[in-house]
Amino acid sequence: PRTYVITGAASGIGRTTARILIDRGERVIGVDLQGTDVSGDLSTPEGRAAAAEEAGRLVDGAVDAVIACAGLSIPQPITASVNFFGMTEFLEALQPALTRSEAPRVALVSSMASMQPVVPALVDALLAGDEGVAGEIATRMADDPRTANVIYPSSKRAISRWVRREAPTARWAGAGIPLNAVAPGTVVTPMTEDLLASDDGRAMTDAYVPMPLNSHQGPESIAHLLIWLTSVENTHCAGQTIYCDGGADAVLRGDDV
Ligand code: NAD
Repeated sequence: PRTYVITGAASGIGRTTARILIDRGERVIGVDLQGTDVSGDLSTPEGRAAAAEEAGRLVDGAVDAVIACAGLSIPQPITASVNFFGMTEFLEALQPALTRSEAPRVALVSSMASMQPVVPALVDALLAGDEGVAGEIATRMADDPRTANVIYPSSKRAISRWVRREAPTARWAGAGIPLNAVAPGTVVTPMTEDLLASDDGRAMTDAYVPMPLNSHQGPESIAHLLIWLTSVENTHCAGQTIYCDGGADAVLRGDDV
């Protein structure tokens, strides 16, 4: 069996991915705030470091794949910290353990929302690795109703850009580690439960994310893609954000490929 570390494994996409892999006989170490093998808070540098250290200990210093799913969509500064640094710093901390695998792989969950308007200053601060400045910008954004909901798309734009920048480098491609992201449309999980419960919420969501193919998706639609990206079969897909979104990206981005 292969050994996987999965963040956000207590719920939604992470949980479904973990369950499919376990059913196939793979070994999964789940990381989340609670209810998984490793309890940790990925919103702080100390929490990430401690969670990565504990996960590394449980896999005896060698891991075949890390799948970063943990995320938040609330219009608060913590969303930027968890969605960006909770993925990137956690992955960087486990990179040495990945180099001890014969077929190491990494996948992250970005979002269709990465295509929506962003605040470039927040995206830049995240990519610069400056959590203090990012926090200040996100705090100002959260205080303004016109920008509070832009924290989430900005965090996901930064993730897709980070994957693009990092994937070809010595740390990842140079170490034989394919690094990619997936971008879901509207997935039916606890994250979207409240939004999809009302007619208004559904209408607003569908206006932002038109899904001509099969409408809203179950978490397994994303799980299967994450599993392929982190499988031995993926030898040459790197630096991509793969949209698995019922055709939403094709509708919204159109010819701009
Ligand atoms: P979810 O809420 O069901 O699961 C997210 C998990 O992340 C939860 O278990 C939560 O406890 C964990 N988490 C949150 N903050 C954390 C922290 N500080 N430390 C550790 N763990 C923390 O949501 P989901 O829909 O499964 O989302 C998974 C990923 O998919 C997220 O990155 C989300 O942004 C992304 N995504 C979701 C959708 C959607 O429509 N649901 C669409 C696009 C992208």
